[in-house]
Amino acid sequence: MLLDRCFNIIAGELDQWLILPVLYHFGWMQWEELSFDWALVCVYGMFAVIMTYAVCWPLEYFFPVEQWPNKKAVAVDMLYTLVSRVGILPIVSFLLFYQVQVWFSGLLVDNGFIPPTLETLIPPLFGHPLVTFLIYALILDFADYWRHRLSHGFRGWYALHALHHAQRQMSFWSDDRNHLLDDLISFLWFGIIGLAIGIPPLQFPLLILLLRFMESLSHANVKLSFGKIGERLLVSPRFHRLHHALRAAGRRSCNYGAVFPYWDMLFGTADFSPVYLPTGDARAPEAMATGSYLAQQWSGLRHLAAALGRPRAS
Ligand SMILES: [Zn+2]
Ligand SMILES: [Zn+2]
Repeated sequence: MLLDRCFNIIAGELDQWLILPVLYHFGWMQWEELSFDWALVCVYGMFAVIMTYAVCWPLEYFFPVEQWPNKKAVAVDMLYTLVSRVGILPIVSFLLFYQVQVWFSGLLVDNGFIPPTLETLIPPLFGHPLVTFLIYALILDFADYWRHRLSHGFRGWYALHALHHAQRQMSFWSDDRNHLLDDLISFLWFGIIGLAIGIPPLQFPLLILLLRFMESLSHANVKLSFGKIGERLLVSPRFHRLHHALRAAGRRSCNYGAVFPYWDMLFGTADFSPVYLPTGDARAPEAMATGSYLAQQWSGLRHLAAALGRPRAS
């Protein structure tokens, strides 16, 4: 495919001119084999950001829910997006996951097991890569529903997740606005699931990008619903905005689904009310809402310590 070829060419250039020289310079040649994959991860991340911007910016410009005279809080969210999609986070998580997967597969093989994939677990899927991918997407989205719902259920965990909710100027940049510890929990959560069912086939990078695009779009400051039926098929900006509503902030919320609303419908947490409410979390420290990147991270740690130190009754 043309786009894939373009990605590979750009990644090759990035690898040759930036990543490999850095590895040589520091004598980290043991990572040489992976450097092209790192470059590819960065290129995909960059493409996702550009694609999201190209679609969401006009939507927010022409059909905004809210107008903000000062957009300083949005600028911090841009930094979150760049760090977690293009920058260091995907490389670190890719590297860690790769290491653990090699170790885990080796352990299984040593003990006479063949590492599982979805296709070996469900043999009729062989030869139907698109169906396999959709099942992966559903499984991962289901796992994400429960990760997200549990993050609202535990006081300490919500203290971290409150950083995601503290934003009163929610925009398509807000999807990656998370505490680093919360990101770490997500990484472990999906890492374990990835090891159990095999990682989704990487031959569908565009579909993965599409799923991530849906997550960004769902945070956009835009008056947009997908209609009575469409909203029940895919998470719309209106649906996810209800999850971020000021009135729903805290331990009990609704609409936890990231891409598909099915799990909310199935477990009784869906709310399809046709309203666009103000967002934020009134109980979150102000530094979490409007502070710099570092101030928000630090505030998250203090919020966590306070939540863990508080007596149970509150
Ligand atoms: Zn939440
Ligand atoms: Zn969100």
